[in-house]
Amino acid sequence: MAEVLLEAQRLTKRFGGLTAVDGVSLTLRRDRVHAVIGPNGAGKSTLTNLLSGDLAPTAGRLLLGGRDVTGAAPETIARLGLGRSYQKTNIFLPFTVWENVRLAAQARASCAARWLTRADSLATVNRRAERALELAGLTARAQRIAGTISHGEQRQLEIAMTLATEPQVLLLDEPLAGMGTAEAERIVELLRSIKRGHAVMLVEHDMDAVFALADELTVMVNGRVIATGEPAAIRADAAVRAAYLGE
Ligand code: ADP
Ligand code: MG
Repeated sequence: MAEVLLEAQRLTKRFGGLTAVDGVSLTLRRDRVHAVIGPNGAGKSTLTNLLSGDLAPTAGRLLLGGRDVTGAAPETIARLGLGRSYQKTNIFLPFTVWENVRLAAQARASCAARWLTRADSLATVNRRAERALELAGLTARAQRIAGTISHGEQRQLEIAMTLATEPQVLLLDEPLAGMGTAEAERIVELLRSIKRGHAVMLVEHDMDAVFALADELTVMVNGRVIATGEPAAIRADAAVRAAYLGE
């Protein structure tokens, strides 16, 4: 089995009387895509926020690279190798594609400077940004203003910005939202190419993309995991079909 990079153990998040995430356990491994699916309000984004440290859990444990990071700040979790994209875009629209990726790479450098008292050189930051742009297939768009590229390219840019921080674990919350078929196919190809070396958690509604990419699937309903396993087993699971796939 591939190396475990992230482990969530019975994570729970309550908002007042609502339990948005209810005792969810999940393992992310290197070179594997773990898709999380479920209807709106199932708790997928809240789970993502728990894994990135944007929210602290009410109960449960979070391990990253074998370290207990339960309740750690998002900056600490990012420094330990976790990168994420948001359901709402984080791009600076008046800046060029290159400037956006460069800023993301620089953020990682200042993070390292703060924590390790070692500033990355300009050349290192530029190289990291170039590599991320290339991986995301955006080299030809580098000098375009981010606000003028297509919606699909903006989502590619967001992935490039996440890659520029050189994470081991990537959390992607609905990277295909609002995309046409051709754009979605391009992102699926992109995600397939970045799978190597990374542990990817993919929250996505597009079932074609999910079944094309996922090595493992977790199905959430009302904050709980109702099924987890290989895609073929999930497809055949009667409870999943009834609760989610609408059969
Ligand atoms: P999903 O991403 O699967 O659509 P969410 O994680 O966004 O689901 O939401 C799960 C539940 O938690 C929903 O009922 C939502 O209204 C609620 N929720 C999410 N964030 C908050 C918050 N910050 N405060 C209160 N309730 C929230
Ligand atoms: Mg969501």
